[in-house]
Amino acid sequence: MSILPDAKLYIDGAIRDAEGGKTFDIIGPWTGDVVGKAADASPADVDAAIVAARTAFDTTDWADNHQKRFELVSKMFELLVADRERISTLARVEAGAAIGAVSRAHVDMAVACYKDLLDLFPQVKWEKDYGIKGPEGYKSDRKVVYEAIGVVAAITPWNVPLYVNVGKVVSALLAGCTVILKPAPNTPGMGSIFGEWAEKAGFPKGVLNVITGEDPAMAGETMVNDPRVDLISFTGSSAVGRRIMEQGAKTLKRVFLELGGKSAKIVLDDAPNFQQEIAQSMLVFHAGQGCAVQSRLLVPRSRYEEAKAILSAAYAGFGDNWGEFDNPGHMMGPVISKRQQDRVKSYIDLGIEEGATLLAGGKLRPDKGGGFFIEPTAFGDVTNDMRIAREEIFGPVLVVIPFEDDADAIRIANDSDYGLSGGVVSASEERALNVAKKVRSGSISVNGGMCIAGDLPFGGYKASGIGREWGVEGIEEFLESKVIAIRVTA
Ligand code: NAD
Repeated sequence: MSILPDAKLYIDGAIRDAEGGKTFDIIGPWTGDVVGKAADASPADVDAAIVAARTAFDTTDWADNHQKRFELVSKMFELLVADRERISTLARVEAGAAIGAVSRAHVDMAVACYKDLLDLFPQVKWEKDYGIKGPEGYKSDRKVVYEAIGVVAAITPWNVPLYVNVGKVVSALLAGCTVILKPAPNTPGMGSIFGEWAEKAGFPKGVLNVITGEDPAMAGETMVNDPRVDLISFTGSSAVGRRIMEQGAKTLKRVFLELGGKSAKIVLDDAPNFQQEIAQSMLVFHAGQGCAVQSRLLVPRSRYEEAKAILSAAYAGFGDNWGEFDNPGHMMGPVISKRQQDRVKSYIDLGIEEGATLLAGGKLRPDKGGGFFIEPTAFGDVTNDMRIAREEIFGPVLVVIPFEDDADAIRIANDSDYGLSGGVVSASEERALNVAKKVRSGSISVNGGMCIAGDLPFGGYKASGIGREWGVEGIEEFLESKVIAIRVTA
């Protein structure tokens, strides 16, 4: 397996080592071996990034010069596309993506969504006219101008790092903000490469900064607590999201949160191709490490035994067609880390303890290599009060839950702390839509529709987050509005 180029910091226009040259090892999920080194930023490095971003925002025309920004962010897009080979390697070696997953969620989707953001830029409203109004003597010509919020700290996870980094960095830059990107410690290379593109594209100093570090919390908490940072755009777990809100309260920080999920796919009793629909619900893509994956499968009680049998057969058919680094047909590799492997395994053990029936998988697979392999796993006889049905596992573990009728399916789907995504399948689009409208989630697919695209706002209800990323709405998340009223005397 290739050794990745060193992941460096990018601060105030300079690609550089961390203070004192400190580095940390990047552990490859396929082998458990060291696959690269990354700069281990110190608190002084984080401070330097904040100073650089603050200075660039306060003293340059970045926020005002829409055309220049657009050209530079477009130039960065060209560099990203030209680096396809390298980002594919990063997605595979660093994030553990199988080749079949690289071409979809990891690279192609990120590229397509970046292009969507560029195409949407002309639709961003920078000013709105409210006309002349007001009592005699105070009659005013009013408008609202929309201005960049300031310095943005983008704190990102490891699961689909390119896609999430693009969503935050590109939207914030297009809005006119300056940005400090802090990737997850497992995927520093996919963050660091943004520094290289920014330098090559000729970004003004300090407009984009990247800090990598071994400590998952230090840089993020420093930025959350620092009054010079205006907005935290965070994607990650609900637990860390809560902590960011609490800590950010001290400086009344704007916080934008994309958090976890436990989304339900509801297959109604009249679903066309019931067998195919159930079989396709296997949670294998990128080892189930997606926030919007449909990890609860809800099926009618009248067809529950049939659904369990279909799933068992589907997993048996899937067999061992996963977990090979060089196999282009594989969609599933390892999970990201030993810690994540332990966590997923502990949920599988818990499911058995809770009385669920293992329909498939359930074991670690050290025979596949030294990495963090865990079998595609499904549980039947699950009730929605079990912890495996309530908590986000973030691994290849599907739970299958029976429902009585449409109302019961909606009740179960909504009986969750989360509300990120979901799906409904029915022969009747009207029936499916009636269900979809009652599910409390930020997106929902009807009969297999695709909810994720660069021009669509994405985000969650309830513990799945606050705010929307992507789309024009996602760019506008990084704007403040200001009323200007001009006294009319005539
Ligand atoms: P995580 O919450 O552990 O870490 C996310 C990021 O936050 C990392 O960069 C980490 O270094 C940083 N961080 C950790 N502690 C911090 C602290 N105290 N203060 C500030 N920053 C801190 O999540 P993860 O394990 O990297 O990613 C998996 C989680 O992300 C899952 O829960 C998943 O659902 C969620 N996720 C959500 C979406 C979405 O769009 N809703 C997308 C991808 C992943």
